[in-house]
Amino acid sequence: MLSPASMLTSRSLRSRLAPTPSGFLHRGNAFSFVLTWLLTRSSAGGSLHLRIDDLDAERIRLEYIHDIFETLEWLGVDYDSGPRSAQDFEQSWSQKRRIKAYTQVLTRLQEQNLLFVCECSRRTVGAFTEQGVYAGIYTGICRTKELPFDEPNCAWRFRSESSTESRLVDMMQGEMRLHSADVIGDAVVRRKDGIPAYHIASLVDDELDEINFIVRGQDLLPSSVVQQALARHLDYQHFLSARFVHHPLLLDGASQKLSKSKGADSLKAMRENAQTPYEIYQSVATFCGISAPIRTIAELLDAFGSKV
Ligand SMILES: [Zn+2]
Repeated sequence: MLSPASMLTSRSLRSRLAPTPSGFLHRGNAFSFVLTWLLTRSSAGGSLHLRIDDLDAERIRLEYIHDIFETLEWLGVDYDSGPRSAQDFEQSWSQKRRIKAYTQVLTRLQEQNLLFVCECSRRTVGAFTEQGVYAGIYTGICRTKELPFDEPNCAWRFRSESSTESRLVDMMQGEMRLHSADVIGDAVVRRKDGIPAYHIASLVDDELDEINFIVRGQDLLPSSVVQQALARHLDYQHFLSARFVHHPLLLDGASQKLSKSKGADSLKAMRENAQTPYEIYQSVATFCGISAPIRTIAELLDAFGSKV
């Protein structure tokens, strides 16, 4: 449970909403948006930025970008900076305008000998991946191959062994000390198609946007760990001082993580059925230990504030 007291901090929180327009948003996305909004708005001087992650151009569709704006309006989630419409996003806020910054960071990491080239196919990685508690962690097959960085159709990975453990301040779980080698292994930082990977784009964006408060699902905890390791090598002061909330994921009836690709109940369908976001507000309220019925986002903010 998240206590409002944990939000008391001497500095203003600056957070972000960071949806990816690769499908229609679901209740899990809405939960994360409302929770991020609530915590940021409860902090004196807190500000919220909207960032839309569109680097993976193949999966992006215009209707999914529209869905983001329609969802935020439906939820009553306002923000202080970022795109105001799909057109504004395309013109001024696409991640494509930062490709140069991402590439420069990859070069900096490469020059520090922190990266290596990986030729493994998805199948090879699957076959050699650690099992059990370390399931899904790359075992470092290519770490010593010294493949050239201009080798085509290869990914670039971060040498997890080159870092010490990350110390994350999580407002729910307290201080966590985790090593990227244990939770994610040698993470991909540049994809086979040459596109900077999520860990890099998200980290660079957070630093440039001066984000110091990151609310994300527990599934992204490994990403926080590796990003903090990268941030230390890059001397990223905003990211290194960031506080986190890694919240549980909403599950559907079959106890499976809600996902866009699985066609879980979309918010678009809820809007088309003239449903209100009542159930979203209520699940955030319950998460924050508020038992009173909540009908509007303003009531949610009041109820959370009165708990301090
Ligand atoms: Zn490999």
